[in-house]
Amino acid sequence: MKKAITLKNGARITVDLPSECPRCHCGILPEEHFAQRYTNRNHNELAYVVFRCPSCENLFSTEYYMDDLGRSLITIGSHPYTHNDAHFSKAIEELSPMFCKTYNEAACAERSGLSELVGMGYRKALEYLVKDFAIHDKPKENDKIAECNLGACIENYIDNKNIQKLAQKAAWLGNDEAHYMKRHEGIDGITKIKSFINAIVTFIDASMAVEEAEKIEKS
Ligand SMILES: [Zn+2]
Repeated sequence: MKKAITLKNGARITVDLPSECPRCHCGILPEEHFAQRYTNRNHNELAYVVFRCPSCENLFSTEYYMDDLGRSLITIGSHPYTHNDAHFSKAIEELSPMFCKTYNEAACAERSGLSELVGMGYRKALEYLVKDFAIHDKPKENDKIAECNLGACIENYIDNKNIQKLAQKAAWLGNDEAHYMKRHEGIDGITKIKSFINAIVTFIDASMAVEEAEKIEKS
């Protein structure tokens, strides 16, 4: 949707209104608070508009390339942009709500540049996921699994060899992030931990789907 906006100097520009808030991701009809037209070093005509989201009530700005008549040609982007939470399958959300919560908090810390907290967050998320899966698999061992350390849980209560291998390495790298001394220098620990956790999620999802399939009897 296009809208004509009057600048402070009385000139008018016409811009394409953003249809989604970059912060809360609601579909919106934003109200403009401030607009400025300017030319950059490369002689591009641009406009900068500050909008207010009627849903979350936060301000955000949108930039445009403009033509000579003051009409927006291209929307460059809106800032600040808040990423949505990572979404996990229903099976994972039911198996381990604390994993989903902790993973998203770690991801939030990562996006905010809180680099010392990120690894510990993913390490904690991994522990929730592995232990909840082990308890799901061996409900009678519930108490022992809850109490033992992550390494022992992976070794003694995870039967799937792929999950076991991925969880073990992710735990080693995660421990590096939580301790004073790093034992695995030179490895991009955070990237690896995330990729191993995502692979574990895939294996667990597959295993839960097989369980569901096994419940269906031939009629
Ligand atoms: Zn919003």
